[in-house]
This record gives sequence, structure tokens and C-alpha cells, in this order.
Amino acid sequence: MDNSFSEIKTFFGFGCMRLPMIGSEVDIEQFKEMTDYFLDNGFNYFDTAQCYIDGKSETAIKAALTSRYPREKYLLTDKLTEIYFEKQEDIRPFFQTQLDACGVEYFDFYLMHAQNAKNFEKYKKCKAYETAFELKKEGKIKHVGLSFHDKAEVLDNILSTYPEIEIVQIQFNYVDYEDPGVQSRKVWEVCRKHNKPVIVMEPVKGGSLIKLPDEAQKVFDSMENKLSNAGYAIRFAANQEGIRLVLSGMSDMAQMKDNVSFMKDFKPLTEDEKIAIAKVTAIYKGMDIIPCTSCHYCVEENHCPMNISIPELFACLNTKKVFNDWNQNDYYNEIVNKSGGSASSCVECGGCENVCPQHLEIRSLLKDVAAEFEK
Ligand code: SF4
Ligand code: SF4
Repeated sequence: MDNSFSEIKTFFGFGCMRLPMIGSEVDIEQFKEMTDYFLDNGFNYFDTAQCYIDGKSETAIKAALTSRYPREKYLLTDKLTEIYFEKQEDIRPFFQTQLDACGVEYFDFYLMHAQNAKNFEKYKKCKAYETAFELKKEGKIKHVGLSFHDKAEVLDNILSTYPEIEIVQIQFNYVDYEDPGVQSRKVWEVCRKHNKPVIVMEPVKGGSLIKLPDEAQKVFDSMENKLSNAGYAIRFAANQEGIRLVLSGMSDMAQMKDNVSFMKDFKPLTEDEKIAIAKVTAIYKGMDIIPCTSCHYCVEENHCPMNISIPELFACLNTKKVFNDWNQNDYYNEIVNKSGGSASSCVECGGCENVCPQHLEIRSLLKDVAAEFEK
């Protein structure tokens, strides 16, 4: 753990990417209840971005949080996402739309979003970092940071180029800890080397570590003082040195209450819990699951011309593989009927792969999906 940034009251933050929904709209009443419960229990950190739920996360935050509580009661983080600017002059007007959408005069933290080798070049060219540092001087941003999805050496380069960066948000969970693609451990080590406090995202890997394969579930079920699966995953992340905060993308009040129950009075992992997590990791890694975190970046902003529900189709294949669940055949057809895009309708334009933070070979994986469900 890390105790820098004393304004962050605890080690746990509310990630507002997967809010409760009614159809395609955020369930504002439930979000208000969740917000109240979170604040009443002593937490104060909220995280959003304009690309979350097609802009509806920011406006929901205004409805549930910023219009109902005094500014000093909460901390709000927003992000500069690559799709919203082409040149330096675009950044300030975009930033203002974010302040307006959220209903605030400043952001406590502002992150250069989803940095990787490719888009870092664009951020440098458009002087995005320099613009954020200027906005900080003007008091519109309290702290500048970045969120990151690439290999460790890329982060090392970014932090060497911009040592003014104050905090780094990384993907960190027990399955990705030694993953050669995500490199959670190595990326975390780079943050330690540059002395940057860390915010963890995806501690439950987009929900994949909540619904575990039976064999893995039995390991946690056999624990004394058993917690929810989220309890092991989130505490694994919070347990590491240098971690300032773990974000959880809670989607309903039950998840909120569960998360608060083990993060309000955080207790480090016991030795037995560490052993259980190692066993679950080994089982999970042996199952050849598509490591999609269901972030939906690939299907937002019309990235897919064929309207293929990529994360839902991947989830179908994963669930069928892990649970031998034949209902997934019907579910696959239901999704395709609704969206109009089957896995085999992919025209291989590559638009989705350009924005996937997990660097998945989506075109090739869709062929696997088609082979399973379109026989
Ligand atoms: S490569 Fe296929 S799935 Fe990806 S955006 Fe293009 S058509 Fe859609
Ligand atoms: S395929 Fe990639 S971009 Fe699409 S939902 Fe999964 S992780 Fe996100």
C-alpha cells in the first residue's frame, strides 16, 4: 500500500465504467443509492471518462454526485481519450465539455488515457501532456497522471519523457500478474522504479474473476472465513507495495455492499489466501480463455462497421468452454439477431484491434467464435 495523496481517504475507489443500467440508460436512482452508501462509508474517489457508456458515465456523475454533494466531499478523476482530439487546439474545448458534463470546476486527477506506444506518439505530437500541465497551473486539474495498457518498457519511456506525471493507473490482477501480454508485475515494477503511486484498474479482470470455473471456485469455497471472489481479487491488488488505490467497477448495490465489506477495514492477505489465489491462477491459466475485459472500447464510436457485439460473443465462447454451458448456443443466436453482426460477418477492417487495450487479435478470435457457434 501507499499513503501518498492524503486527500484520497482510503485504498478503494468507485470506477464508473460499468454503472447500473436500465436498458441503454444509467439507472440513476440506483447509482445515487450506491454513491450515498460509498460516501457514507468513508470513501471519496470516483473515476470516469467520456468514452464510458457513450458519455453517460460523466452525466450520471453530475446527477448522482456533483449536483448533490459539496465539492470537498469527493475526488473526481477524468481522462483525455485519444479519439477526442486530432491537434493541440482540440484539447482545451474537449476538456471544458468534460467539466460541464460532470458539473465541476476542476478535476482532482486528470489522466492521459490508455497510453501505449502508438498513441503516446500522438499525445506527444499534440502536446497533450504539456496542455494538461498548463491546466494544472491554472487550477483546473489538481494532479496529472496516466492510465496504461502496454509493455513495461513503453511505460519506462513515458515516465522518463514526462517525469512530472504524478500517478499511474495500471491493469493489475492475480491472473495478469505474470501474463506476458499485460505484464502487470513488470509494469508495477516500472512505477516503483520511477517512484509513482499506482491506481489499479481491472482488479477482477472485467468480471472474469467473479464467475470462476468450478474447479477454481472449489478452492475459494474451501477457505475458512470465505469471502466473495471479488474479496480475494481486490485484496490481492490492494496488498501490493506502492498501490495507492484499487478501483472497482461496481454495477449494482449488492456489489457495492460486498466490496465495501472487505475494503472498509482493509486486511492484508493471509498466507492461506495467497496459496489459494496461486491455485486459482494456475487453474484459470490452464483454460485457454479469451482475455477480454469487456471494456467495450471496440464497439463504441462505430468502430465496427458490421455491428458485431465483440465482447458478448467472446463471453459466449469463454462460458461455453469453462462451464460446458450449451445454453450459450441459444445466447449466441440471440445476440446476433439483436445486433445483426455474426462472428463470421467480420470484414477484417481491423478497426476494433486498433483500440483494444488488451491488444487482442480480435479478427482471428472471431474465427474461433464462428467455428464454435456457426457450425
Ligand atoms: S475487424 Fe471485424 S470485428 Fe473488427 S471492427 Fe472490423 S468488421 Fe468489426
Ligand atoms: S475485445 Fe478488447 S476492446 Fe473489445 S471489449 Fe474486449 S478487451 Fe475491450
